[in-house]
Amino acid sequence: MANAQCACGALRLTMREPAKLVAACHCLACQRRTGTAFSVNAFYASEAVEIAGATTEFTRISDSGRNVHMHFCPACGSTVYWKADAAPAIIGVAVGAIADPAFPAPTLSVFEKSKHHWVSFGEEVECFQTSLI
Ligand SMILES: [Zn+2]
Ligand SMILES: [Zn+2]
Repeated sequence: MANAQCACGALRLTMREPAKLVAACHCLACQRRTGTAFSVNAFYASEAVEIAGATTEFTRISDSGRNVHMHFCPACGSTVYWKADAAPAIIGVAVGAIADPAFPAPTLSVFEKSKHHWVSFGEEVECFQTSLI
């Protein structure tokens, strides 16, 4: 079981199952959302995740034209999780919000077309120029 929380602790998630997938994303929307060069995201079955605390939702349209709903803490602004209309049974969790340096490494790297030139993960990470879905 893993936990995730925002910077102030008001928004907390409990994940009752291991992540199905861990992926890094270099898209420009993730760069702006996180304020850093790329995001690292863990994907769980929605029914395996308990959410406690209020969120503010920011909805944006993905490259595939479907809505993605980002949920962030209204007090401290940390984005902790998100849901995509294209994959309603899955919830994405910010790996940084789990705050566990032993957390599994990403096995996929997506949107490499906008990857910062100095970022490199090694050969065990599968790379895609855009999204998987
Ligand atoms: Zn917070
Ligand atoms: Zn992204």
